[in-house]
Amino acid sequence: MNIEKKENQNRHSGYVALLGRTNVGKSTFMNAVMEAKISIVSDKPQTTRKQILGIKTTPKGQIIFFDSPGIHIPHFRLNEKMMKDVHHSLLDADLILYFIDMDTKWDDEFAISLFKDLNKTVFLIINKIDKYNKARILEKISKFKDNFQWQEIVPISALKGNNVDLVEDLIFNYLPESDYYYPEEESTLQTERFYVSEMVREKILNFTHDEMPFVTTVKVEDIHEKENVIVIRAEIYVEKRSQKKIIIGKQGSMLKMIGEQARVELEDYFDKKIYLDLFVKVVPGWRNSPRILTEIES
Ligand code: GDP
Ligand code: MG
Repeated sequence: MNIEKKENQNRHSGYVALLGRTNVGKSTFMNAVMEAKISIVSDKPQTTRKQILGIKTTPKGQIIFFDSPGIHIPHFRLNEKMMKDVHHSLLDADLILYFIDMDTKWDDEFAISLFKDLNKTVFLIINKIDKYNKARILEKISKFKDNFQWQEIVPISALKGNNVDLVEDLIFNYLPESDYYYPEEESTLQTERFYVSEMVREKILNFTHDEMPFVTTVKVEDIHEKENVIVIRAEIYVEKRSQKKIIIGKQGSMLKMIGEQARVELEDYFDKKIYLDLFVKVVPGWRNSPRILTEIES
């Protein structure tokens, strides 16, 4: 063990935060980096605040990727708690990957303000370059290059895998010298609950066209494996009956669509059949209720 430690002295390891608007391709990037499909490990609830997306262990070291709470520009009405969560999670980072994609048009001033004063290494990741030609990509780079002191700017295609290895190499260049934080075997994810809730929430946002960016949260009540199926029961929290109506839709059509899309992607992600049961629950003032927030996070 000791001998092994000595040999490991040149490793670089650390925490890397993924930051960026929904749909820029963070999950796709994670899948590309992790290469293997993530397998469901257990139904034990997550107990920590940090949402670890994946742990990449290589001879060079270990990258622990974690998610920052969702950011939905331009609906940047983050409440105080969300702001604190984002801020906190970024404080824990050795390095921040700030994702935009080639379709990005919005002003990213607010997002930058979240890490501007943290004195962290930040890479600008420009995703979905497969959709555009070189001139457009260069144009995008020149548009974004001066609005922050990016340590690196990397155009990638998470979907096609272009430059994903490069990002990984660059990360190792900047991470502090350190041995592994987690045992090598722990490269699978422990965060199924989080992933499921994010997935469902993402579909809600997609289908309701940002009608309710922050009024919903999704709590996974139960997740367990049964023969060849992963059975998931999740509750969608909204604040008002009117919001419940929107999410359920005409004769349940909206909820069905949300569930259907989430299920298809979850099956792809877990590589297993999924049985997904969604319920909508009106919980007035859940956002202001510390108890409910704590429950959701636990
Ligand atoms: P997230 O919300 O940031 O996690 O984004 P996702 O990873 O879920 O990706 C959102 C959508 O963009 C999905 O339909 C992906 O297939 C698509 N996408 C992600 N990366 C790329 C890419 O490099 N090129 C293209 N063309 N589409 C991508
Ligand atoms: Mg995602």
